Amino acid sequence: MLRFDFRPYCRPFCQPLQTAHGLWAKRTGLLLRFEDEQGQVRFGEVAPIPWFGTETQAQARAFCDRFPRHFAPEQIDQIPDNLPACQFGFSAVSPLSREAALRLHPQSLSQAWERDWPLENFGDAPRDMCALLPTGAGALQGWRSLWQRGHRTFKWKIGVVAVAEELALFQKLVETVPPELRLRLDANGGLTPDAAATWLAACDRAPITIEFLEQPLPPATILDWLSQIAGRFQTAIALDESVATLQQLQRVYQQVGDRGVYVVKPAIAGDPQQLLDFCLRHRLDVVFSSALATPVGRNRALELAQRSWAAGLPQRALGFGVSHWFADDWASLSEAALWARL
Ligand SMILES: [Mg+2]
Repeated sequence: MLRFDFRPYCRPFCQPLQTAHGLWAKRTGLLLRFEDEQGQVRFGEVAPIPWFGTETQAQARAFCDRFPRHFAPEQIDQIPDNLPACQFGFSAVSPLSREAALRLHPQSLSQAWERDWPLENFGDAPRDMCALLPTGAGALQGWRSLWQRGHRTFKWKIGVVAVAEELALFQKLVETVPPELRLRLDANGGLTPDAAATWLAACDRAPITIEFLEQPLPPATILDWLSQIAGRFQTAIALDESVATLQQLQRVYQQVGDRGVYVVKPAIAGDPQQLLDFCLRHRLDVVFSSALATPVGRNRALELAQRSWAAGLPQRALGFGVSHWFADDWASLSEAALWARL
């Protein structure tokens, strides 16, 4: 049997984030603490983002309130798919299994999986981490300090101001930065089909590598549009909002297959073991990304990313360079210290 406790947290952003659903000022979630009969402690995190299709904070809270304070590990298999953030949070009780990966890659996997365990410091190298640029004209200077810190892959949010104005900034940016800088553009579903095509053409012409254009159109229309533009552009399209949960990912993959890059936020996607199995089975081209969780959720998500890299999936820079979005010192705290703060 395991002992379960949880504590809610509320964490303001330095500046409210602009989302398609209005301003997002505070990250709220729940930290979970599990202790086994030997006194071993492991932490988990439930960090819902309801506008991505997860449960709400209130639903997650209600689930934790009802969950028994003493439970058998098998009970976490009963958490329904409509509580994906809870599935992720409670999965912390059992480490990711290499069974599925071993079935797929019996020779290559075994050593890599063992060598990289434990995953201390995984993802800490700036080179492995995509850095987020300031939006708008701030990007023109903003890349420099991040570059000096060692980042080589950058993300710039687009669809923030008028297309013509933004394209002019983009032109300036790609001509200013070092040629080995890799750039991701993220529209968060905010472009029209015409604007998206204009952007793709600009990306194809850019003198640096544009790794992908992320979620140019909203989930409701992007799949049809993808089939219409098939073969017209070289720049890859990544899907993010379309594939927030494992169920969505499975559905979208059936239509898009290997033509897309998939941005996966483990903290809201659901059960990480099932997610890992799915990614490995289909050799998915996946970018693991932050759901703006605390170091607890981040560490559990990075465990999944590390496992997928160890199993041979493409090592695209991780989308976890977000600690500077918060004004507090949580990023420097151990999981136990963070728990003690709440
Ligand atoms: Mg995105």
